[in-house]
Amino acid sequence: MCAMKIPRPFNRKSNLARLSGDTRSEDIKRLLLVRARLGILLLWCVLVLTIVIYVSVQAEPVNYGMMVLLLVAFLLVELGTNFFPFGEYRPYLFFIMMCAVLALISSLVYFTGNRESLLGFLFLAVPIYAAAYYSYAGTLLVSSITAVALFIPFFSGNIEPVQILSLTLSAVSYFILGLIACYIVEHEEPYARESHEFGRLLEVSRTREKEISVVYDLSRKFSYTLDLETVLNTTTALARRMLESKGSIVFLVEEGRPTLKAGLGIRPSADMGTVEIPSGEEWMKRLSHGNNVVEENLQLPWLPLPQEEQNDYYDIAAAPLFFGREVAGYMICFTPTDRPFPKDHIEILSTLASQAAVAVEKAHLYTRTLADKTKLETIFSALRDGLLVTDSSGILIQANAVAENIFKVGSSIIGQRLSTLLKSAVATAEFGDYDLEEALEAALGGHDISGEMTFAGEDGITAQAHFIPLKDEPVGVSGVVLFLHDITELKRLDAMKPNFVSNVSHELRTPLTSISGYVDLLIAGRAGTLTAKQEKYLSVVKEQATNLTKMIEDLLDLSRLKSAGERTRLEKTNIAKAIDESIKRLEDQARKKDIKVEARVSTNVPAAAANHARVTQIIANILENAIKFTPPGGLVEISALKNEPYVQVQVTDNGIGIPPAALPLVFNRFFQAQPGNAAESGGFGLGLAISREIVDLYGGSISAESEPGKGSTFFFTVPIYSADIAGD
Ligand code: ADP
Repeated sequence: MCAMKIPRPFNRKSNLARLSGDTRSEDIKRLLLVRARLGILLLWCVLVLTIVIYVSVQAEPVNYGMMVLLLVAFLLVELGTNFFPFGEYRPYLFFIMMCAVLALISSLVYFTGNRESLLGFLFLAVPIYAAAYYSYAGTLLVSSITAVALFIPFFSGNIEPVQILSLTLSAVSYFILGLIACYIVEHEEPYARESHEFGRLLEVSRTREKEISVVYDLSRKFSYTLDLETVLNTTTALARRMLESKGSIVFLVEEGRPTLKAGLGIRPSADMGTVEIPSGEEWMKRLSHGNNVVEENLQLPWLPLPQEEQNDYYDIAAAPLFFGREVAGYMICFTPTDRPFPKDHIEILSTLASQAAVAVEKAHLYTRTLADKTKLETIFSALRDGLLVTDSSGILIQANAVAENIFKVGSSIIGQRLSTLLKSAVATAEFGDYDLEEALEAALGGHDISGEMTFAGEDGITAQAHFIPLKDEPVGVSGVVLFLHDITELKRLDAMKPNFVSNVSHELRTPLTSISGYVDLLIAGRAGTLTAKQEKYLSVVKEQATNLTKMIEDLLDLSRLKSAGERTRLEKTNIAKAIDESIKRLEDQARKKDIKVEARVSTNVPAAAANHARVTQIIANILENAIKFTPPGGLVEISALKNEPYVQVQVTDNGIGIPPAALPLVFNRFFQAQPGNAAESGGFGLGLAISREIVDLYGGSISAESEPGKGSTFFFTVPIYSADIAGD
């Protein structure tokens, strides 16, 4: 006995696979069958049951075997239908089964010898059922076969006319019923289509819902996971579960090479670092270009699979992990070929991969930040300078041990307001135009402020203080860093320096004066006549003694300038006169080198608020250099002009010039741009340093421009004289 097979359109897997593929009419028929399934099944059961009862009442014992066969066949088909996934739509199979059923029932009736059995009426179910599978032509064909089956028991023996009439009427009724069923099915189609579409959408939305819940689940897991290993293990486990795959693995690209980072379904003891992904294979190329990949029937010899599975064939589904636009890794799931991936699962894998990519990137960032933090903390604590960090409201959020030590407040200074802390700890502060509080405010306002502060107490240190605002672009200033560099010792030494220099200079000047005096006496022949050689040597001694004396004078001058006091001696200084005097002072030198010195002083140049001798000294220093560093036949021009609120003096030569690297250093003490000893150039690199000190005292400035081989120009400014300045 065979039975019709009821297809199962809502079998999850088959329906998912079919969502996009099958024709519409097939879908409709499938749906109708589903709707009709229960009714038809009932009808079918009644049919079989009736035959069984009929046969047991009517049949000769010899036909019991046939009856058992019928029951067993029926049960087998029903069980098979329920337990085996052969739920595909097979109209031909149904047709054959239908014919077999009819033939079987007819033969039963025939064997029981009761040709008038009413069982034939039960065949009415057949054309109705056929209408669900076939259109008009198919249904009529099935109806014809049913009619023929009805005639089977009458194939032998006499048939009475009334029997023929009854059989014919039955056959006609099959036809009519079949046609009516077809008509109804046809008119049911639009509803069925809608209903099917609805079912399809429902299924799609269920799939999406499942995906969303996975994504949600993942995001939730990843939101509190910053550990890379946990992220990768969670991802692989989820991918395996979602795709119902045998295994899943994740590669991350490190230094341009994909490295296996996590894997399930592979040998647990495998050395993941040695796994080489087959970069030459077509599917891998597509994957590395950022495409999702589904590939069937592959062997995976590159993967450390358990020994017994190494020669098996697998299907793989793989998705790239993107960091921005860059492919930063791969997620691959593999499954034996007899359990293929449902088609839309690549989308799930892709969604998983993008979630994982975000989490991996976050974990990477976290690891890097942690490493940076550790580095910073090490630097922070190793610093010999005090370092304090505040938030945007000036509250201390970090301080290293040196800083804690400087403040010595007993408890930690973290959490205190920096301004309060400074106010109580600092005795004096020097930040130019700002007082201490203003300096901190200015830094919180985004300005770099530098200065000095001396802390209160007996052993209170003096520190160079540097307020640096922490600028976070969108937020503005997120805090301030205060560097405290201990300069107590430097300060002490610096304070000793002028004294030291002036003491030493004084001590040196006395013997030098004696040396010079006695050399003069010797040269003058007071100790007897000198040979030419003796005279020559002595004149060298005299020259060097004079140079040394000048240097000592310069050094004394510098230390005097440093100790200030000069500013009080401001007077109305005539610049033109100072220029004239300087030129006169150096006339001889210029003449000797055949250098022309030209002065151009505009008539409106006002008097300067300075000291006449000092201004003359500056001009003479610059002019002397100009003559010294200009080859014979050169030209030196001096000019002065009004440059409110200053008088500006400018000395230009067409001499050897100063190399660009040396230019910023020419105002430093003892700096000489041209190699050569002091005796040759007749200087020690102090002239310009002294000039700068003087100009600084008057609140002016000094600078130079030069082009090697072409010449140099030195500028300096001093404030214009006014009654107010003089009165200071
Ligand atoms: P020095 O006594 O050595 O001249 P200065 O302080 O006056 O010391 O000058 C420092 C150095 O600057 C000089 O040694 C020289 O190298 C350079 N310098 C100054 N003026 C000129 C100039 N007009 N041309 C070229 N080099 C110059």
